[in-house]
Amino acid sequence: MTAIADRILMGPGPSNPYPEVTAALVHPVLGHLDPAFLEILDETGDRLREVFGTTNALTLPMSGTGSAGMEASFVNVVRPEDPVVVGVNGLFGERMCEVVERVGGEVIRVDAPWGEPLDTEAVLAAHPAPAVIAAVHAETSTGVRNDIAGLGRGKGDALLVADMVTSLGGIEVAVDDWGVDIAYSGTQKCLGVPPGLAPITVSGRARERLVERPSSWYLDLNLLSGYVTGGRGGRVYHHTAPVTMIGALHAGLGVVLDEGLEAAWARHEACGLALQAGLERLGLELFAAVGYRLPQLTTVKVPQDLPGGMDEAGCRRALLVRYDIEIGSGAGQLAGKVWRIGCMGHTARPQNVVALLGALAEVLGR
Ligand SMILES: *Cc1c(COP(=O)(O)O)cnc(C)c1O
Repeated sequence: MTAIADRILMGPGPSNPYPEVTAALVHPVLGHLDPAFLEILDETGDRLREVFGTTNALTLPMSGTGSAGMEASFVNVVRPEDPVVVGVNGLFGERMCEVVERVGGEVIRVDAPWGEPLDTEAVLAAHPAPAVIAAVHAETSTGVRNDIAGLGRGKGDALLVADMVTSLGGIEVAVDDWGVDIAYSGTQKCLGVPPGLAPITVSGRARERLVERPSSWYLDLNLLSGYVTGGRGGRVYHHTAPVTMIGALHAGLGVVLDEGLEAAWARHEACGLALQAGLERLGLELFAAVGYRLPQLTTVKVPQDLPGGMDEAGCRRALLVRYDIEIGSGAGQLAGKVWRIGCMGHTARPQNVVALLGALAEVLGR
């Protein structure tokens, strides 16, 4: 077998894992009911509460990637015909609509142009009594930040579901202060852990409204809580916890909390601003609306004058082959139009920003 390349991961995820995380991946495997593992699981829950900004007892690393968190959020609280308002200004908002529809909810979709933030008032005014209001905090397809706190202030009796896949650990998140009822995330973005788990947190209000027998057995939060919050000795087996991935997440959260949440946000902010300024210095045009740009995920328009008949995929290929740097293509309606450059987790360091800007200047002949 040939050696696997060591890349700088600057796409929309996965990011480079923290060294402490990579080290945790080779720890001995423990049984999922071993008291030594349950201690790691409990501590992972505590650390997740800290990064989510919540005291929610039901806070756990769900098996599966970020999308499992999205699916779990809806399948556990949406009943057939329930009105569900979804703010859509990118691919992941669209995916929310698809999931709600499959669960049998009535989707009330409130669109904003891709690259612009959601209109909070329009989302709140879309239905007089929605069961659920849902939005993506950090739209990874466009690089735009949506105002989740504003939705929380105006949600009324509805439950608020927030996708925090690309925001958790990278920019401010405050689940309790913002009135978020269910938030889910993913490990491979700003937490600096490989893909495989979906951290999720569920408020007491949401727990009172959980569907008793959701159509997904695997993602059933009632069953999962029996294992996760069952108390030492009282844990009920549901499915085998992915112990190695949970150990990796435990380590990654440890790195983020040792650094300090605010310091981690500041590091992502500094890297993102340096990257965005550097791209503009190269004569490139940023895509997301000014004032709503995410530091951890930058969208930049593909220039028209690519050298030597190269297309946009050829540029990304050159970055990968010549410099071992991965950046992302545009997704959905932005395919072929933008590049998505992530600066998340362990990738969010000045040396990577400088390396990419230098490599891109060379590839683009600028
Ligand atoms: C990456 C991402 C997802 C999906 O996560 P997967 O880990 O790919 O399943 C969902 N929402 C947002 C905002 C994302 O960036």
